[in-house]
Amino acid sequence: MKQLLKTYFGYDEFRPLQEDIINNVLNKKDTFVLMPTGGGKSLCYQLPALKFEGLTLVISPLIALMKDQVDALKANGIAAEYINSSLPYQEIAQIQRNVSEGKVKILYLAPERLALGQFQSFLQTLKISLIAIDEAHCISQWGHDFRPDYRNLKLFRKQFSQVPIIALTATATLKVREDIVEQLSLNNPKICVSSFDRENLSFLITRKRKAFDKLVRILEKHKNESAIIYCFSRKDTEKIAEDLKIEGFNALPYHAGLNSEIRKRNQELFIKDEVSIIVATIAFGMGIDKPDIRLVVHYTFPKTLEGYYQEVGRAGRDGLPSECVLFYSYGDRMKHEFFIDKMEDINEQNNALKKLDQVVEYCEQTECRRKFILNYFGEEYVQRGGCGACDICLSPQVKFDATEISQKILSCVIKTGNRFGKKYVIDVLEGRSTEQIMNNRHNTISVFNIVDDFTDEEMKDIMRSLITLNFLQVAGGRYPTLSITNKGINFLKEKELLELSKTQEDTRDLYENIPKQEIEYDHNLFEKLRALRKQIADKNKLPPFAIFGDTSLQEMAYYFPSDKNNFSRIEGVGIKKLESFGSAFLEIINNYIKENNIAPLEIPDRGKRRVNRIKRLVKTGMSRYTKTKEMILEKLPLSEIAKEEGFTEGTIMKHLEILLEADKNLDIEYLKPPEERLEKIKNAFEECGDERLKPVFEFLDEEFSYDEIRSGKMFL
Ligand code: ADP
Ligand code: ZN
Repeated sequence: MKQLLKTYFGYDEFRPLQEDIINNVLNKKDTFVLMPTGGGKSLCYQLPALKFEGLTLVISPLIALMKDQVDALKANGIAAEYINSSLPYQEIAQIQRNVSEGKVKILYLAPERLALGQFQSFLQTLKISLIAIDEAHCISQWGHDFRPDYRNLKLFRKQFSQVPIIALTATATLKVREDIVEQLSLNNPKICVSSFDRENLSFLITRKRKAFDKLVRILEKHKNESAIIYCFSRKDTEKIAEDLKIEGFNALPYHAGLNSEIRKRNQELFIKDEVSIIVATIAFGMGIDKPDIRLVVHYTFPKTLEGYYQEVGRAGRDGLPSECVLFYSYGDRMKHEFFIDKMEDINEQNNALKKLDQVVEYCEQTECRRKFILNYFGEEYVQRGGCGACDICLSPQVKFDATEISQKILSCVIKTGNRFGKKYVIDVLEGRSTEQIMNNRHNTISVFNIVDDFTDEEMKDIMRSLITLNFLQVAGGRYPTLSITNKGINFLKEKELLELSKTQEDTRDLYENIPKQEIEYDHNLFEKLRALRKQIADKNKLPPFAIFGDTSLQEMAYYFPSDKNNFSRIEGVGIKKLESFGSAFLEIINNYIKENNIAPLEIPDRGKRRVNRIKRLVKTGMSRYTKTKEMILEKLPLSEIAKEEGFTEGTIMKHLEILLEADKNLDIEYLKPPEERLEKIKNAFEECGDERLKPVFEFLDEEFSYDEIRSGKMFL
C-alpha cells in the first residue's frame, strides 16, 4: 500500500488511522470513520479503490466539489469520473459507457441519482468493489445537515449485500454515529475515531477593540495567503470587504443573499488564488475543499463551539501551520441573544443559550484553549507546559500570590448565602452600597468593603480561576449564581497557599506580535514556484492546489531538488505529476540554484521530515522570550540581542512589548532613545493619532527608522 501511496499521491507515510482503516476496507469489512476536517479521509477509500478489481462508488452531497475532487485524482493519474445534475445528458451517457467498459476506477455520485430507477438498473450491471459514503452525517436527522436524498442510500445494503461500505464524517455525536450505522445497516463495522486535535492550528482570541485596525494587522501578517473572515450579517461582509479593499487587500464578500452567479464567481476566484480574502457569513465553507487556507477569523463570535470548530477546521487542511483568530466582545453575545430570545420553543431556546455560554466560557478561559475545546468534545488533552499554539500558552504568564484575595472571595460567597453572581460578590467586597445590597443588609457584614487593590476585571479573572479549580461552582442559566464547593471549604479551612496566573488581557491584544509559526523555506523561490503553479493551473483549468500543495512547494524551496530523482522524493510528487510537471518546476529550481549559488540539501528518508520541522518551531515558540529577557537583564544592546537570536531588531522589540506587558518592572531604561529624538517621536504619534507605525514613519519624513520609532513608542 505504501508503494501505491507514493506512486499515486506522492506521500511517504500514512496519517494516523489511515493504515488501519485501509486494511479493514481491503478485508472487505464495513468501516465507520470519524476524523476532523483535513484528517485525510478521502485517501481511506481512494487507495483501496486502486487495489480493488472493480469500481468504487463515492457518494457525496457536495456537487460543487465533485469536479475538483475528480480533477485532482486525474492529475494524479487515477481514472475517476463524476455524475451529477450539472453534466449534460450526452456526457453522462459517455461516462456510463466508460464505466461499463471498466475504464473507470472511482465514480463520484450525487445521492439523488440513486432515486432514478434507470440508474439503479445501470448500477446492477456493474462490478462494484467498494461503496464510500462521504459526509455520512447527512443521513441522520439528529445531525446538523440532514439531507433527505441520503435516505436513498439505504438501498445499497439491500442491493449490494456483499460489497463493503465505508461511511465517513467529520461531525458526529454518539447519537448521530449510532444513527448512521443503523440507517446504512452497516455490518458489525470497525469504528475508527481519530483525535480531534489539529496540531497545526493556532487558536488565538483577542478583545474586539479597535477591531478593524487589528484585522488589518492580522491580514498584513498573512499577506497573499488565503483567508476567510466570518461576520455576523450579510451587510457586515460587504462593508468589511469594501473597507479591506480600500486598505489595499484583495477581498470579496460571500453570503446567501448574493445572486448565485456572483457567489459562484467569488468562490471560484478564491479557489483559483485570484482573490486571497473572502469575507463571509457562515453560509460559506461547506463546498470548500481548499487545502491552503492559512487564516480563519471570526470577526463576530460564533453561536456554538461545534460550529466554531467546524469553521476553523477549514484552515490548514494540508497540515501546514495556520491561524484561527476569534474577536470576542460582550456586545456580540447580545446580538446572538437577541435572536435566541425570539425562538418559540423554550427547550430550543435554553439549549441555544447554553451553547452560547459555552462559547463565552471558552473565550474567558485562562487555561489552554486547545485543552478546553478538546475536553468539550470529550477528548482528554494532557500536554505538560501547554500546547504552544494558543494565545494563553504563547503569552508569558506571570504568577502572583492569590491566597488572600481568594479567601476573601470565597468568604463573601458563603456570607451572602451562596446565591449571587460574580458582580454582586464583587460589589460587596468593594463596598458598593447598591440598592440590592442595602435591601439584603449585606453592607453590614464583615466582608463588606474589604478589597481595594483589584479591578473588577481582575476580580472576575480570579473568580474564573476559582471556578476552574473547582473551589466555586456555577448554577443557573441566564443569571448564574456562585456557590462554594467542598474543595473550596477545605481550601479555607486548611489555609492553603494559592498561586494564580495573571490574565494578560492586554498581552492578548498584542498577540499578533507573536511570531507566526512557520516552517523554514526559501520564500523567494517559493513565490516563483507559486507563480508557475498558478500558470500551469490556469492552462489546465485546475485549481492551483491540484497541481501541487503548499507543502510540496515549500519542500522544494527547502531542499532544492535539482534532478528528477530528488524531485520525485518531494512530498506530493507521484509518478504522474513528476511526468506532467517535473521538468517545468525543475527548470525554475535549477535556475534559482545557479543564480544564488545554493547547494541542494539531501532529502531525508520517510515522511517524518515535515513533522520534525514543524515541531522544532513550536518548541522554540516560547523560549524565545525567555532568551530575550535574559539578555535585556544583562543590558545588552538590541542589535546584539538580535544578532544572538538571529532575528531583526523589530522582532526583538515585539518580544519586548510582550515581556513588558507581563512585567511592568522590567528595566529597559537603557534602551531609551536620546531625549530630543524621543520628543519628536512622541509628537508624531500624537499628531497621527494612530497606533500604527507607518503613518508616524511617514509623518517624520522617513528620517527615523521603524526600529527607532518602535523603541521610542515603548517610552511614551
Ligand atoms: P478530509 O476529507 O478528512 O477533510 P482530505 O482527505 O481532503 O481530508 O485530506 C486533507 C489533506 O491532507 C489533503 O490535501 C490530502 O492530500 C492530505 N493528505 C491525506 N493523507 C495524507 C498523507 N498520508 N500524507 C500527506 N498528506 C496527506
Ligand atoms: Zn494552549
